[in-house]
Amino acid sequence: MFEIGKIYNRRSEIHNKYGGQERGGISTPAKFPYIFIFTGNSGEQYGYTDGYNKEGVFNYTGEGQKGDMKMAKGNLAIRDHQKNGKKIYLFEKVGSGYNFVGLCNYIDDRIEKLKDGNGELRDAIVFRLDVNNIEKRRSSINLVEAPKAVYITKPSKSKSLQQLREMALSSTPTSASTQEKIQSIQNRSTAIKLYARKRANGICEGCNETASFETKSGPYLEVHHLTRLADGGADLPQNVIGLCPTCHRKAHYSLKHLEFNNRLINKVAAIESKLIE
Ligand SMILES: [Zn+2]
Repeated sequence: MFEIGKIYNRRSEIHNKYGGQERGGISTPAKFPYIFIFTGNSGEQYGYTDGYNKEGVFNYTGEGQKGDMKMAKGNLAIRDHQKNGKKIYLFEKVGSGYNFVGLCNYIDDRIEKLKDGNGELRDAIVFRLDVNNIEKRRSSINLVEAPKAVYITKPSKSKSLQQLREMALSSTPTSASTQEKIQSIQNRSTAIKLYARKRANGICEGCNETASFETKSGPYLEVHHLTRLADGGADLPQNVIGLCPTCHRKAHYSLKHLEFNNRLINKVAAIESKLIE
């Protein structure tokens, strides 16, 4: 019903169709088994730090703008979504709209001391979510629950492109332990980065220039996610690209970054279709 990487108008395309609170970060429609969660720049003024961590896990700060957050309402809905058979849809703010990032699975939550709307430190609930941002519609690949041997294997650059692809596309069984889930998310996130660098093979996939310097782990290239605002987490092979620092900055900050990103998307699509042949 929502397309990953597409931008939606919150009121007309989300709430008018499905209901739910039109304000705040967590929206729980009464008539649909969905939970909509929103993240964006506005949260940062309250000390929110939503986003992917180094492990590829998405941190999401719960609701409650003043005082200690409580495990109630929207926060409780997130925690118990699997038990209640509800799907969590994650949206991130882009301009005046919201980009659909993907479906999420709750892993766990913890309390952090963060400032509230009055600048006072309080207990904030920070959820750890496994974001499934693999767009099935555009992908010919069938996502299957990975066997344990795959999802707990630490990827390394000595793996083949094909092996890294399989790791990047493995999904974590919801029945795995919290530790195994975190391990699996981390491995997928690492695998897709290694995949993009391996495919680029020392040459920027944006400008075709050779990486300007070597590091201990090979030529220096950065991994950019083509259909998202923030880099990080697992992704599809056709949505990641190995770029030199200049092209990477350009993809995020250039005045014509959308145009540049579209060019890169087409470029990677061509590279990937050759690989699959
Ligand atoms: Zn470049």
